[in-house]
Amino acid sequence: MGEKILDEVMINSALVKELADVAKDEALLQGVLMRIQESPNSSELVTYAPFTLFPSPVPKAIFLQSLEVQPHFNTLVDKISQDTDFLQEALANTIEVDDFTARLFRIHQKILEEGRSQEIVLGLNRSDYMLDQSGDGASALKQIEINTFAASFGGLSSRTPAVHRHILKVAGRPEESRQILDNNPAAGLARAVAKTWELYGSERAFVMFLVEEVQRNIFDQRYIESELWRRNIPTIRKRFDDVCRSGSLDQDKRLFVDGKEIAVVYFRNGYMPQNYTSEQCWDARLMMERSRAVKCPDISTHLAGTKKVQQVLARPGVVEKFFPDQPEAVKQIRATFAGLYTLDMGPEGDHTVEMALADPDRYVLKPQREGGGNNIYGAEIRQVLEGLKDATQRTAYILMDKINPAPVQNYLLRRDGPLTINNCLSELGAFGAYVRHGADMVMNECVGHLLRTKSSEHSDGGVAAGVAVLDNPLLV
Ligand code: ADP
Ligand code: MG
Repeated sequence: MGEKILDEVMINSALVKELADVAKDEALLQGVLMRIQESPNSSELVTYAPFTLFPSPVPKAIFLQSLEVQPHFNTLVDKISQDTDFLQEALANTIEVDDFTARLFRIHQKILEEGRSQEIVLGLNRSDYMLDQSGDGASALKQIEINTFAASFGGLSSRTPAVHRHILKVAGRPEESRQILDNNPAAGLARAVAKTWELYGSERAFVMFLVEEVQRNIFDQRYIESELWRRNIPTIRKRFDDVCRSGSLDQDKRLFVDGKEIAVVYFRNGYMPQNYTSEQCWDARLMMERSRAVKCPDISTHLAGTKKVQQVLARPGVVEKFFPDQPEAVKQIRATFAGLYTLDMGPEGDHTVEMALADPDRYVLKPQREGGGNNIYGAEIRQVLEGLKDATQRTAYILMDKINPAPVQNYLLRRDGPLTINNCLSELGAFGAYVRHGADMVMNECVGHLLRTKSSEHSDGGVAAGVAVLDNPLLV
């Protein structure tokens, strides 16, 4: 079995201690970096981004499956974003009860009324999976969600393979070291942004990274900025406040911020309600959406990434409708779907409530939120649904089958953390990048992968939330 590969090394505590020290230094050398919590907006003091000491086993066929299906997911997201009737219908009940989704939806409606002012579309996403362990020991690739907004760690994951390769050599495992795959999502994501910038067609125009107030994970983004500058494409980093203060549209709806024309707005902030600290932030979002700048993502692609849309897609006939002549694409996409259930009012939603109350440990209850830490598990599902079961508020959630990956042992390295062996669960992500110009898809690719691993004690939370750490697949 794959998980046994590194067993001897893992139980040699003197060696593990030595390897952990080497690993941290190598991470710093390779640029797997994060700013520290105490000074998140300064690069005077930085540390390594948290990562596993060893790579984690992933079955080769399943890994390849995640890469192969990605261009179909790109196409699917893009088609959804253009299907206004579908979005309207899918989100109709959700926006009655979820204010954040409703606000996004209102922007979407305004843009449709006014007419889209840009026919170039740039999509950078990440489809996340866990490997569900069925009774017979085989595992199946099951999608957790697709992130169409601010999908992160494409930068840092371009640097982690070198760290694990090095550790395995030092550990006396050169063969495994050679098996660590190359990975460079930063280059692929930047290639898509560069293509978009060229299509926009103004050499003086900038790519604007719309960034958070607190920027601990800046290096992840800097890799993409660097790739763009290498191609002589200028980039700037701006916050919502900057856009509020110095953003404007000219008579042709070209976007200017601080006097600079913006060709592409790459949102790395704006996916959580708390990112909009004032009404002005919402005004700024609307202004950017109305502009001729290419938005990554545009408002309709943002909505296509909601959990409600994910649940609606799992209904019979829906994916089929988006791929009328491509049964193979439908099959590949559908194979990754876990059970997803509506909580809309009516008999179907009532049945979902009954199912969840009867056996809450089999499910995850999800609101329309991103960023980790929002989902509800186990006994708490009962609490929430017993309170809401007959109220329309339940339609703010969807219910999903809980995926159960096989735990694997590893050491999680994080600043000042203890060096103890943990039972871990991994989540595999595939980065998608596409560019559409009117009716022409000019790029549609899978540009890399991400493996994140967390202690099995935690049911939720990503790297930024301080729960998961960066990892690499060791194909078995
Ligand atoms: P977010 O938008 O907050 O990232 P996700 O749907 O990705 O929401 O869920 C967050 C985390 O919760 C995932 O990274 C995963 O660890 C866990 N999780 C989500 N859905 C499931 C599921 N169906 N089965 C098991 N774990 C899940
Ligand atoms: Mg997620």
